Amino acid sequence: MITGASRGIGAACASSFAAAGYAVCVNYQAAQQAAEDVVGSIRSNGGKAIAVQGDVSVPEQVDALFKRCDQELGTLDILVNNAGISSPRSRVEDLPLDALHHIININVIGLIHCSQHAIRRMSTHRGGRGGAIINISSGSAYIGNPHEGVHYAVSKGAVNSFTIGLSQEVASEGIRVNTVSPGLTRTDMPNPAKLEEMAPRIPMGRIGEAQEIAEAVLWLASEQASYVAGANIRVAGGRP
Ligand code: NAD
Repeated sequence: MITGASRGIGAACASSFAAAGYAVCVNYQAAQQAAEDVVGSIRSNGGKAIAVQGDVSVPEQVDALFKRCDQELGTLDILVNNAGISSPRSRVEDLPLDALHHIININVIGLIHCSQHAIRRMSTHRGGRGGAIINISSGSAYIGNPHEGVHYAVSKGAVNSFTIGLSQEVASEGIRVNTVSPGLTRTDMPNPAKLEEMAPRIPMGRIGEAQEIAEAVLWLASEQASYVAGANIRVAGGRP
């Protein structure tokens, strides 16, 4: 299950997991056609995937999303909590409260709710066969994003704390929980002007590609990472 997988890092994860042999549930919020295109591309390469609508911040839609995944793809092994937003850009004192609720509902509460569903299915204490949860956080959690996105940084700081706590809570139940913290990555999320402005300040001198983030996610999901839990892998071209 990859949330928010109709484009960007989520879509790259979907293609990479399918190429590695996983059956993939491509979750999308509203962009049905884009999600169907991701699924179509996976199927044309011989992979297995379905597209399922579900806003991660709407509890009933999350419930239906996981139920549909159970019915069509069987036992859940991997959850990639990728869905997220960063807008609006705002200084703290100007941020409308409803925008604050909105970003926390998606980036934090939605992510935790999806994780609850995954744990109930994966935990060996509940008859499951284990699995892995990979949370997509951001270097913003360390940088703080002053003047434009402290609220986003806060939401990703919460994701990091969640990974630290949850990874220990479920480690003995066969579930590995880890985080990937991308740096600036070429997707629809960052402001295009910011991408060009920031590139020379990144130690590698360039912006990251979604596929480069997906590679780290895929590794964390794999047996090669069997002793990795509670990690937070920065994939950011050398940015601390
Ligand atoms: P993106 O905007 O292209 O992708 C985000 C995806 O999440 C979209 O498909 C969107 O529809 C989906 N989404 C948003 N709200 C949703 C909801 N309520 N329910 C279900 N899906 C929802 O951006 P991206 O860069 O691919 O972002 C993926 C993740 O990577 C996000 O969590 C983001 O915070 C994180 N990230 C991105 C960057 C970057 O520079 N691009 C850097 C650090 C972290």
